Amino acid sequence: MFILLLIILCIFFILYLKFKNYVPILMYHRIADIPSDRNALPKEKFAEQLEYLSTHNYHTITPEQLYNHFINKAKLPKNPVLLTFDDGYQDNYLEALPLLKKYNMTAVVFPIYNWIGKPNKWENFGKQETTTMNLAELKSWLHHGLDIQPHTADHPFLTQCNEEKLNLEIIDTKTKFEKLLDKPMDYLCYPYGFFNQQVINIVKKANYKMAFAIFENVPLWHINLFALPRIPIPSHQKMWEFKLKVSSIHIIFVAMRKWERQFKQLKNKFK
Ligand SMILES: [Zn+2]
Repeated sequence: MFILLLIILCIFFILYLKFKNYVPILMYHRIADIPSDRNALPKEKFAEQLEYLSTHNYHTITPEQLYNHFINKAKLPKNPVLLTFDDGYQDNYLEALPLLKKYNMTAVVFPIYNWIGKPNKWENFGKQETTTMNLAELKSWLHHGLDIQPHTADHPFLTQCNEEKLNLEIIDTKTKFEKLLDKPMDYLCYPYGFFNQQVINIVKKANYKMAFAIFENVPLWHINLFALPRIPIPSHQKMWEFKLKVSSIHIIFVAMRKWERQFKQLKNKFK
């Protein structure tokens, strides 16, 4: 028993050393109070989270800072955290932006090119109808010093698209966004977090510098710039869970849980 405990502690320590400089990338969607939507975080909870980050010396960073850190070993501020918003909902502009400004924080929003300023009809999951940020709001978002990067043209499952569609969704969308907002678009966000090697090849061909996924779908041991792990922040997020999620301990638990699952799958194979 003692030896087993010692082994677990050793593994935990090795993982701690491995992940102690890990940068948490948080994934938000809507900032709204809709109990039936697990991706809609009430404004009060979001404010509480920003208050925690602010009072505990966390510093929000941009995708560019993260890229320069990975590639050029650029120094990041103490306790860096990257805040990302998927789909570009209007409540990000109306509710999240004032709070981000209040705490002097930055974030990146990933709008869907063909759904800019339109109702969220791409979501066929019985979601409450809302609208996305229009062009003026996107420009204002940039004007406030926050970032915008592409989330494809139509929000498809990229792993189900043929090459022609992938070119449209990944390459053409980058050019269109750059023209629309007159700024470089270097960081793609995969719809639903799904990608495969063909998708990554096209992302690289389009000269994106990095791409964002979800931690469940990516390897954690080695950083893959085209499959960055993000941590979902759901509507029911408890504060103690949030605190854990922005600490380096969270990624250790995630890694251990993944290996446990892989070990169980392997065990079942040989049963
Ligand atoms: Zn999305």
